[in-house]
Amino acid sequence: MKRITHWIDGKPFAGESERAGDVFDPALGVVSGRVDFAPAAVVDEAVAAATRAFDGWRESSLSQRTKVLFAFRELLAARTGELASIITAEHGKVLADAAGEVQRGLEVVEFACGVPTLLKGGFSENVSTRVDSYSLRQPLGVVGVISPFNFPAMVPMWFFPVAIACGNTVVLKPSEKDPSASVFLAELWAQAGLPGGVFNIVHGDKVAVDRLLTHPDVAAVSFVGSTAVARYVYETGTSRGKRVQALGGAKNHMVVLPDADLDLAADAAVNSGFGSAGERCMAISAVVAVEPIGDELVAKITSRMAALHTGDGRRDSDMGPLVTAAHRDKVAGYLDAGLAEGASLVVDGRSIEPDGAAEGFWLGPSLFDHVEPTMSVYTDEIFGPVLSVVRSPTYDAALDLVNTNPYGNGTAIFTNDGGAARRFQHDVQAGMVGINVPIPVPMAYYSFGGWKNSLFGDAHAHGAEGVHFYTRGKVVTSRWLDPSHGGVDLGFPTQT
Ligand code: NAD
Repeated sequence: MKRITHWIDGKPFAGESERAGDVFDPALGVVSGRVDFAPAAVVDEAVAAATRAFDGWRESSLSQRTKVLFAFRELLAARTGELASIITAEHGKVLADAAGEVQRGLEVVEFACGVPTLLKGGFSENVSTRVDSYSLRQPLGVVGVISPFNFPAMVPMWFFPVAIACGNTVVLKPSEKDPSASVFLAELWAQAGLPGGVFNIVHGDKVAVDRLLTHPDVAAVSFVGSTAVARYVYETGTSRGKRVQALGGAKNHMVVLPDADLDLAADAAVNSGFGSAGERCMAISAVVAVEPIGDELVAKITSRMAALHTGDGRRDSDMGPLVTAAHRDKVAGYLDAGLAEGASLVVDGRSIEPDGAAEGFWLGPSLFDHVEPTMSVYTDEIFGPVLSVVRSPTYDAALDLVNTNPYGNGTAIFTNDGGAARRFQHDVQAGMVGINVPIPVPMAYYSFGGWKNSLFGDAHAHGAEGVHFYTRGKVVTSRWLDPSHGGVDLGFPTQT
């Protein structure tokens, strides 16, 4: 049985582990490995290694850091296929989707390769007579990254390339459900020449998270996961004086106006609702059909769903299994709940015949119509292949639905009316907006993050906000003595 261990000080951690967890191959429905769970003492070792490495790494030149980042980028690009296989084997998403995930992470590495430009400050000559002023951004120290199961490579890469490029050292706590991708990334860092201790991994659960949140030497924490844990991480971390960005759950709406291209909208609803089995924080889970197009749109979505092929992600499938049996059962429970609450179950994913082992954690794509905002299939983040259609009488009612939802991660509008799209982008309360684009994930050089219960803290991930999050500003005012001396003056400094 494969054992997945922590990564501390540039190498696998040799110590024994008292606690461990099962890692599954979701398409086979079998345990494929055991992952060590770190107690507080092991987290302390990782933080100590990161603390020791910090001084050297922050003193390394921008050229040296960039050289390591470029080497990491090359290795990652060359070995994308291997990493995608590791992701598919533990998460279940199909190989092409896993390779897409690596590509999106790679783009953040490429963004971080531009760190010499990103860290440039400002300079003002002669702010006062013979006095100059300039700004610097400096790293924070040891930063913690805590990530969810649904993107075991991409989500950690939203953070650690930028943190490391800015001169910080990192302790990553990946999801215990699919931990192997992070270890592969650690091996690539070592091959790229990153000094030991700059990037560390501790596996585990709440015990490890809590130690990162309370450890006095951890300066900042980036978290991604469900809203309840995100809120907890934000409150606990900030109460200890740490800088925290905690990205939470989502309920993403796609508003379809009557003038939209309904074929495009139906394709988009299916792709964004069922890609990665709906286990994406940017998945569309509620399609808001502005009448009178509801019947036609539901028919178009239904016919496309009939062609979807659910099976082992290593075969030629469109959609893989869910991550665990428990999660599959929870998601399937929403099909009963929706029926009991009065929604129409147009497609029941429990009846599919998957192309995979009988023991796999299967649930096919499902579609509810006539969903009401009070039903649990609408109010809850299901995080599975269940799409709900809510009928709305008007655009204003549709916008109100989106804006009163407690989540505000992503949203999309489908229309051929530029004015309507512009009004929506202006009025909607969400962090990422698509116009005829269902999954508007920002490129690495923009910042990723939601509003409301989808993000606690005020910095989004990567892009300019990522650089800002991982650095502190300093402004220097300098005067080099000229032959003339200023003399004693107790007044407040003013420009002369
Ligand atoms: P999760 O909240 O269960 O776990 C996330 C991380 O927190 C994991 O590393 C886990 O070990 C740890 N954790 C779990 N329970 C904890 C607790 N009680 N105390 C401390 N730490 C704890 O989330 P998940 O199921 O792995 O991922 C799915 C969730 O992540 C969904 O809600 C999804 O929307 C969200 N997500 C959000 C974004 C975003 O950008 N907003 C991106 C991806 C995923």
